[in-house]
Amino acid sequence: MTTAIETADVIVIGAGVAGLSTAMQLAKRGQKVVVVERERLGNGSTGRAAGLLGQLRGTEAHTAMLMDGVEVVKELEREADVEIFIQTGSLRIAETPDRAQEIKDLVAMGKSIDFNIDHVSREQVAEMLPYMKTDDLIDACFCPTDGHLQPAELVSAYVTVGKAHGVIFHNNLPVEKILVEGGRVKGVRTARGEFHAAVVVNAGGPWSYLVAELADQKLATAALGHYYLATRPDPDHVVDRLSPAIRNRHHRIYARPDAGGLLVGMYEAEPVEYDVEDLPVDFDMSTMKAARDDFNVALLIHSAQQRYPWINERTPMTITHGIMTFTPDGKPFCGAMSDVAGLFHCAGFSGHGIVQSPTIGVIMADLILNGSTKYDIEAIEADRFFDIPGYQTRPEVKEKCRNMFASYYGRVEGKTATASNS
Ligand SMILES: Cc1cc2nc3c(=O)[nH]c(=O)nc-3n(C[C@H](O)[C@H](O)[C@H](O)COP(=O)(O)OP(=O)(O)OC[C@H]3O[C@@H](n4cnc5c(N)ncnc54)[C@H](O)[C@@H]3O)c2cc1C
Repeated sequence: MTTAIETADVIVIGAGVAGLSTAMQLAKRGQKVVVVERERLGNGSTGRAAGLLGQLRGTEAHTAMLMDGVEVVKELEREADVEIFIQTGSLRIAETPDRAQEIKDLVAMGKSIDFNIDHVSREQVAEMLPYMKTDDLIDACFCPTDGHLQPAELVSAYVTVGKAHGVIFHNNLPVEKILVEGGRVKGVRTARGEFHAAVVVNAGGPWSYLVAELADQKLATAALGHYYLATRPDPDHVVDRLSPAIRNRHHRIYARPDAGGLLVGMYEAEPVEYDVEDLPVDFDMSTMKAARDDFNVALLIHSAQQRYPWINERTPMTITHGIMTFTPDGKPFCGAMSDVAGLFHCAGFSGHGIVQSPTIGVIMADLILNGSTKYDIEAIEADRFFDIPGYQTRPEVKEKCRNMFASYYGRVEGKTATASNS
């Protein structure tokens, strides 16, 4: 029997927001937690995120989760003494009858659960966002309690509070094997030796399907590229720090203020796919570069220009390129599967991991320590595609995840659809 270099109650694989939030919540409840990270803390998808926080989702359960998340963040801000949440409010805007109907449905749904949301006129939108083209809008709604989370500050707070409660972090240490004995997880193996614990959490982000394979499990996640641009401050187009974020599904874009400029992202119709097993073992997502003439970057600039005519190829801007983790239905996998006791998954946040992470940490700690949670988690259970035909091979999973990504902003939603877009 190999001796462990360290033993813990819980080992978390991956130090993105999902793993860090889970580790912090478990440590706050008295667990000894070790986080093992392949590279650097918060330098996977988490380090690339725009951080938009829209609380209203397609179901009351999901909306309640995100609203509670804001309270978790406010507590974190107090504990870590850092500003994470910038409450700018958010607008959804519509320039076609179909998109206007989406807004009508969304406002009706929000009001039915007492969520603070209402229609606003084109004139009101123009007043809030003088730097945005508004003359073609036929409807819009405003949600004053939305905004964005600052990903770097969120990571720093999870780490600070986690450390204060005893979480131990190991960087630059890929987990090479999940140790399973007699159907029970025993720990993980790394180049520095074995770490033993009765509970292991797969919070591997884009690598999560490979991490699952380390225990001979299948997780239906896929890695897809995503871009946003951020303009430099421009005295001719002043972007107030507290201007509301927007979501403009017709042009597939979202936007928010960013360091004096404007951040605009786009849910591409044809995202770039990644097989993360082909990336170097020490792959650093922060080194991903996007050329101005990349097809998706050109499309992003073009779409941004439809709403902000002052943005063009010559506008001083940075382009951020990162990898998201998608699932076939756009919802994460949180919990265990029946064949390996003690192995939990927490991955597949489909473009929303920053905003979901505060509550997800609470849910994971509930599931690990109590086997249940007060939240309705049916839609995010980890085993929902277990053994379901059509979700078993990598090509099947990749195709479904790609389609989910492509339809995020593209499809027109009816009354029964989920408002899954970020
Ligand atoms: C460009 C872009 C914009 C985005 N915008 C938003 C947004 O506006 N709002 C929002 O909510 N979300 C947004 N997201 C999504 C968000 O970033 C992710 O959902 C979130 O960061 C996922 O966190 P995670 O912890 O699951 O994954 P990650 O942050 O990727 O963390 C996973 C970690 O696991 C580690 N790991 C993997 N394999 C191993 C191993 N074998 N051993 C040890 N460690 C391992 C990785 O190195 C990594 O650090 C955006 C993402 C991108 C790329």
